[in-house]
Amino acid sequence: MSSKLRDLIFVLICILTVIAVIFHNIRTATEEVLYIEIETTEPEIEIETKYGIPIESYRIEFGTVSRGETLGGILQRHGITAYQVDKISRMPSDTLNVTRINIGRPYAVFTDTITDSIPRMDYFVYENGTVFYTVYDFTNYDTIIIERHRKHVDTITRSASGIIESSLWNAIVKEELPWALAIAMSQVFAWTVDFYALKKGDAFKVIYDEYYVEDNSIGIGDIKAGLFFHHGKELWAIPFEQNGETGYFDTLGNNTRKTFMKAPLQYTRVSSRYSHARMHPVHRRPRAHLAVDFAAPTGTPVYAASDGVIVTRAYGVGPGYYIKIRHNSVYSTVYMHFSRFGKYHVGNHVNQGDIIGYVGSTGWSTGPHLHYEIHENGQKIDPLKFEPPPADPVDSVNMKRFNSEKREWIDKIIAISPDFFEKK
Ligand SMILES: [Zn+2]
Repeated sequence: MSSKLRDLIFVLICILTVIAVIFHNIRTATEEVLYIEIETTEPEIEIETKYGIPIESYRIEFGTVSRGETLGGILQRHGITAYQVDKISRMPSDTLNVTRINIGRPYAVFTDTITDSIPRMDYFVYENGTVFYTVYDFTNYDTIIIERHRKHVDTITRSASGIIESSLWNAIVKEELPWALAIAMSQVFAWTVDFYALKKGDAFKVIYDEYYVEDNSIGIGDIKAGLFFHHGKELWAIPFEQNGETGYFDTLGNNTRKTFMKAPLQYTRVSSRYSHARMHPVHRRPRAHLAVDFAAPTGTPVYAASDGVIVTRAYGVGPGYYIKIRHNSVYSTVYMHFSRFGKYHVGNHVNQGDIIGYVGSTGWSTGPHLHYEIHENGQKIDPLKFEPPPADPVDSVNMKRFNSEKREWIDKIIAISPDFFEKK
């Protein structure tokens, strides 16, 4: 080969290198970040995967986000360039904030150990929560793909029972049931069972769903059906759907819900009853108290006792922050001494159970409590003696369907051991 030809080849190689570098830079400059949201499960076929990624050719390093660590910091430590990190941070975050990571959350780094001599991160996986995780895919030449995945959630229907010795909470603990079951039960039976007056020997049977991800329980769903044996009475909660809404009914098809809640909050005790003459704690002279006071910690949510429209949301010297709800032409309710209001304003419609405010001690008050009044045709009546009418029962046109569904639920509930309900 002549020296001229060798020079020519050398020049050609130089030119090609320059072109390649320029071309690469152009490609890098147009690098895109794609965001895709998908719900997938691990494939059924026999490829071993983790987070849906075949693990065969990867070294996987697991970690948890430590204090002060950023997504960019972790990525750059594993060979991702500052330029790529910047691209990710510029992604529109209207669907998902892909740069935010939280301390203590697990992550995994998939490093390609086969195709490259220098180990290179192909995938970064961040676990957003127990169900969701985000995959940052760096395997494409010019595009970073960010995918949000949902892990497969298994639902197992469970049944449980317990006998009250002292409290519902203790019964739940004794039977080693999930603590969330106590809350779910207090919601389903809120209108029929007085949880502040449970007696030794009261008992329950319930059917509920428990959710699992990779064999770990992540929580429970609503109570599907249940029975509470309370003060010698069988109180059923049988689910039934009509007019697009699912409610709980007794065996006769009566709604277990009342039009008014027994109490518009979870309280610790009744601190002052309805009375026409009592010593006022602030004014130190006899004064009627045509209301009931529920002592509860500051910040306890206060619910609308029934559906209605907010007619007053104000501050008064005596009542502090207070709300009045008009439920219909007969009934209104008043709630006083809030520490702060909920999100509803005058004129807003509220549904029973919506949070209208939080317990506080504003106005004439000697400690955090809710002062609660029920007005019937303009007269303040005793909320603790008020017997509210039940919500809508099963429609007569739906009775046949209700009775057949009811039979199945009752059979399932009765089958739960022990059979303490049949002993009476
Ligand atoms: Zn009061």
